[in-house]
Amino acid sequence: MSIKTNLQRIKESIPGGVNLIAVSKTHPPELILEAYHHGQRQFGENKVQELTAKVVVLPDDIEWHMIGHLQSNKVKYIAPFVSLIHGVDSYKLLKVIDKEAKKCHRNIKCLLQIHIAKESTKFGLSGDELHELLKNDEWRTLSNVQIIGLMGMATFTENQDIVRAEFKSLKQLYDEVKEQYFSNDSGFREISMGMSDDYRIAIEEGSTMVRVGSAIFGER
Ligand SMILES: *Cc1c(COP(=O)(O)O)cnc(C)c1O
Repeated sequence: MSIKTNLQRIKESIPGGVNLIAVSKTHPPELILEAYHHGQRQFGENKVQELTAKVVVLPDDIEWHMIGHLQSNKVKYIAPFVSLIHGVDSYKLLKVIDKEAKKCHRNIKCLLQIHIAKESTKFGLSGDELHELLKNDEWRTLSNVQIIGLMGMATFTENQDIVRAEFKSLKQLYDEVKEQYFSNDSGFREISMGMSDDYRIAIEEGSTMVRVGSAIFGER
């Protein structure tokens, strides 16, 4: 199956309000360019080094999404260009992003990552930790970052009921914090959930952003 056909099929299967982030990690720039030539502009990478290497050889109008775990000491390398950081899982990291964004005279959009999966290996805040972070108004003083929503990854399992329940829990948490902390903020509106194997379920449960890799580029 070609990248063109894969992209077409996926785009046809997702509703207009849902953004498709093409996850290009481990794939060479030539394949990214192929997707680009078929109209794709938003790409996701999960490693800073790989991302910064690709940025310099690919077109300027690509929107780069950092979807992986991000270490504070590496924020400076992506701050000049990154379009959205999906995996913000601590206030400390948010503060570092704000500081580095300021140096570049940018405002960087961020999603807070929530731990919804059963596996202990996946990063993210618990519901309680999320409330803890937002309850304290300190984050509102950070002028160079904007929290525009939540991100989560479901358990890696064939069991669709588990996956669906986890996506439901993320949507519920989103609705809760939207009402409590972002009721006057129309910018808080994204739920990044869904990958190649589960994006259809994620969309049914309220996803606004799906991160799809292997269904576009093939197996890694
Ligand atoms: C790799 C990755 C994806 C895409 O996974 P596929 O199963 O290839 O679609 C999505 N989100 C994150 C955070 C990833 O690391």
